[in-house]
Amino acid sequence: MGLNQKLFQGSEFLDIDIQVAISALQHIAYCPRQFALIHIERAWAENYFTAQGKVLHERVDGGAPEKRGNVRTERSVAVYSQSLGIHGQLDLLEIEGKTDKKYFPVEYKRGKSKAEDWDRIQLCAQALCLEEMRQIVIEEGALWYWSERKRERVTIDQNLRNLTLQAIAQAKDILSSGKTPAPTTKKSRCKACSLIDVCMPDVARKDRSADYIQQLFSAPDT
Ligand code: SF4
Repeated sequence: MGLNQKLFQGSEFLDIDIQVAISALQHIAYCPRQFALIHIERAWAENYFTAQGKVLHERVDGGAPEKRGNVRTERSVAVYSQSLGIHGQLDLLEIEGKTDKKYFPVEYKRGKSKAEDWDRIQLCAQALCLEEMRQIVIEEGALWYWSERKRERVTIDQNLRNLTLQAIAQAKDILSSGKTPAPTTKKSRCKACSLIDVCMPDVARKDRSADYIQQLFSAPDT
């Protein structure tokens, strides 16, 4: 992931926007602190779930392009959006038809379908990249969940697009600030988080409480 930086070219410094990896959007949607621990502090704890997810993607990404009937599939498609400053790799792209083509991105996931939009945000970011790269409109994609052997169709609607743009903006804010946010208030997420030992959310929460009380007592009288 590129950071906010300036490159010297000729006699001028060129501003290079912060770039966000699409795979990082699921981290920010899950917990902004997790995002910062991974992408600013470079902490990564591999557990059973993350290792299994990596193996799944290696298996999916290794396949060759195929054609079935009217549908051609491309695997491991590199995508980026210059306007949004995001980049990543799409597991599978289905292209239906020859002249009036319909593009359908598919992202493979290890776990189960979720009520929350973390995975849908990642898929939507891939769709936004494809739209910009190929000058098309993508109305739908799918998430394929390995443990359930289930394909979930996802409508790329305006609500999901807005959530995705918010996640991208939040990721860029955190990267440019260089600061790691406080632990999430949703403690149930910490139990499933691979970074809990690095993060120590309970300790960080206590520290913040102590800081807050200290600020109250040291606040000047008005
Ligand atoms: S342990 Fe909790 S607060 Fe810490 S990164 Fe994970 S989800 Fe966020």
